[in-house]
Amino acid sequence: LSHVTKVYSQGTRSVRALDDLSLQIDAGEFVSIVGPSGCGKTTLLKIAGGLLRPDTGAVTVAGVEPYTLPAEARSRFRGQHVGFVFQQFHLVPYLSVRENILSPVLAWWKGDVHQRAEGLIERFGLSNRKHHRPGELSTGERQRTALARALLHQPKLLLADEPTGNLDPHLAKEIIKLLEKINAQGTTVFVATHDHEMVRSKNKRTVQIADGQIVSSL
Ligand code: ADP
Ligand code: MG
Repeated sequence: LSHVTKVYSQGTRSVRALDDLSLQIDAGEFVSIVGPSGCGKTTLLKIAGGLLRPDTGAVTVAGVEPYTLPAEARSRFRGQHVGFVFQQFHLVPYLSVRENILSPVLAWWKGDVHQRAEGLIERFGLSNRKHHRPGELSTGERQRTALARALLHQPKLLLADEPTGNLDPHLAKEIIKLLEKINAQGTTVFVATHDHEMVRSKNKRTVQIADGQIVSSL
């Protein structure tokens, strides 16, 4: 991301969510963004994933500049390269765990998608829940379903917005371990978090932001 600015305007009020922010993340990195609520973390993830057009600045992901593409090509680009785990999961309430995991890719994926879904279901400990709907799941199970869905198409970049925010410490640790494994297998992980476990371990970079600007990157 190069000199990215995003201002939200509502009537006469406007909020500068990102202020001339530049950040480079190398392929295979595990980067956590931390900072107080409202500092711009979610905005940064959305912009990095091709979901939200910045007002100024350039964004390049996997060699592609998503905001130079027409809308349809941009959404195809996201479908191929980017996985999202949203803060509120955004699971479809009337679909089962298995259907939720499969839903984003069924329309276009040509490969062994059902087999891959089964593999993720097993790996994420959801085998005995795969025919249940989100309303019948614990928060941790919902979180793992959302993560499996984000990974089904083998994205190069995984974006996760406070993925341990709603979990007790034991489940949070599990999610962190899953993210680390995914990263070890080559996926770039970019995560917004308040979790000290997430940022403490080695081989990771922590970017701190305040008021839409980077204050440290270690
Ligand atoms: P964080 O994820 O760090 O809490 P956000 O990126 O969600 O921060 O928000 C950054 C700032 O932008 C906050 O002040 C927030 O209120 C504001 N903001 C976020 N989304 C919108 C929106 N759709 N409309 C107006 N203001 C928004
Ligand atoms: Mg947020």
